[in-house]
Amino acid sequence: MSLHNNDGDCQYCNKIFDRYPNFYVPLRKWFKDFQKLHPEAHISCAGRGRQDQEEAFIRKASRAHYGQSSHNVNAAIDIFELQGNPKDIYERSWFDKVLAPALLPELVWYGAPNAPFKELPHVEVRSWKELRMRGILKLVE
Ligand SMILES: [Zn+2]
Ligand SMILES: [Zn+2]
Repeated sequence: MSLHNNDGDCQYCNKIFDRYPNFYVPLRKWFKDFQKLHPEAHISCAGRGRQDQEEAFIRKASRAHYGQSSHNVNAAIDIFELQGNPKDIYERSWFDKVLAPALLPELVWYGAPNAPFKELPHVEVRSWKELRMRGILKLVE
């Protein structure tokens, strides 16, 4: 995590976005605007190809196989924060006070009380399945 920089435009986060080409632009822009206002916000994961997804499944970081996750079509991010207690990058209070109010209706956060799954860091594009059917989002390798 030390590779991340709280300068409001973390280059390591950009590298994660660039890991697979064509990350969904509106989600990336939303996060980068959010990071400008809250430089402590970072991502640990954005797109995930086949191998990354199956490895995440094995270490139980994901319940989905390749093709079943919004990460596989470049339409999800996992967020953490670098401030306060450095040993706790997933402080529930930060997500509630800082992240939750910044979310947009077109995003789904798995930390919300009504979320379909419980996964505090995960934010995805609400319509990703539809966008995938329309060919706007594609599986990343
Ligand atoms: Zn970062
Ligand atoms: Zn996720």
